[in-house]
Amino acid sequence: MQLPKRKAIFLDRDGVLNVDLGYTYKPNDLKLVDGMIDGLKSLTRGDYAFVMLTNQSGIARGMFTAAQVESFNNELLRQIQCEIPNFKFDAVMICPHHPEGLVPEFTIDCECRKPGIKLVTEAATKLNLDLGNSWIIGDKDTDIECAINAGMRGIQVTRGGKQYSQSKKAFAITPTLREAAEIILKH
Ligand SMILES: [Mg+2]
Ligand SMILES: [Zn+2]
Repeated sequence: MQLPKRKAIFLDRDGVLNVDLGYTYKPNDLKLVDGMIDGLKSLTRGDYAFVMLTNQSGIARGMFTAAQVESFNNELLRQIQCEIPNFKFDAVMICPHHPEGLVPEFTIDCECRKPGIKLVTEAATKLNLDLGNSWIIGDKDTDIECAINAGMRGIQVTRGGKQYSQSKKAFAITPTLREAAEIILKH
């Protein structure tokens, strides 16, 4: 017997959850994006799995380690749970690679760096996800590309600290996760 598949929200990290300062990794630099908590609160009323999906090429570039990324993510989750005690990520998917890195083991042209979809398909298998009814929320056009490549819809947010070019393929472009959540819950 097959279990019903779950819908998911894939959340880019920098610029969606925490303010993107550029290669942000120090817990002291962690600032939550305005509207993010409101958005997550709304989305937890739907029956979604939550997956953090983040490119962290700073690992390949030797700017910080995977352990430092994990510490930052733990602090991020702690701060979210201060506001939404039941919140959890069903999976945290991190690409540490970059083709022009400095750390040999991470310096590859991988298939998991967004817009690649390897981490999406891994999460989909592990969590039994219905990607056709799932979403990516990100601040870069590569987040939206990743959504399209994986058969999902993508919403681009614009007030996460950095300004990136607007995606032409985004289902919607909104200031923050708050407005993105309203759109998702209507579809
Ligand atoms: Mg981002
Ligand atoms: Zn990768």
